[in-house]
Amino acid sequence: MTSDTGPSAGDATLRRRIEPWDFADFFDPTQLRKETCLLYEIHWNRSQKIWRNTACNNNRHVEVNFTEKFTADFHPAVHCTIIWFLSWSPCSECSQVIREFLSQHPNVTLIINVARLYYHLDESNRQGLRDLRNSGVRIQVMKVPDYHHCWRNFVNYPPGEERHCPRFPHEFMNLYSLELHCIFLGLPSCFTISRRRHNTLNLFTLTLQNCHYEMFPPHILSVVAYDFRSPLYSNFL
Ligand SMILES: [Zn+2]
Repeated sequence: MTSDTGPSAGDATLRRRIEPWDFADFFDPTQLRKETCLLYEIHWNRSQKIWRNTACNNNRHVEVNFTEKFTADFHPAVHCTIIWFLSWSPCSECSQVIREFLSQHPNVTLIINVARLYYHLDESNRQGLRDLRNSGVRIQVMKVPDYHHCWRNFVNYPPGEERHCPRFPHEFMNLYSLELHCIFLGLPSCFTISRRRHNTLNLFTLTLQNCHYEMFPPHILSVVAYDFRSPLYSNFL
């Protein structure tokens, strides 16, 4: 693969890649596309090879499909690390499925990177994420380097545009990251999302409470509070 030709010139991974517009649509943290996209890679401990693939929801959640496919395709006798890039974080049911999957595959380490938090006000979803974390799963919100990594390795980017990953607003990455920490700490949510104008406009409003100011260092809150000093409309960005 070279930056002059893009991934299409004889790249064996092409059939596993998604199109640039799909990547932007699925993983833009300001948007609320309903379906979930999963980009994943499997690192085998005794091999330099990395297995990469992509999947989207069908009639079931993509996390369930992954666990069943992995169980059918692999019988890992050696340790492997699975890294997910998910457009939405797992729901409570999927969190339970993932925990059962990991208990059946003790040789597997799972790292989950998410672009957005799925129905983040739903307490069962919040508890599911805490349970996953307590089971040893590393969960984090995707940041700019993660988007660039996905662009290079999972997207059928146009020739010569290996370095031209879409720029998504880092304010929303920071906001979701703060919310994930609220979830892990058992704090109330720090923001709300409202859909306006026939679902074409999403309004993000920061809702910091005293407990947030007590738990987070000022320099962390001040960054998010400055970005969201007034409600942000995602399609104004
Ligand atoms: Zn789910």
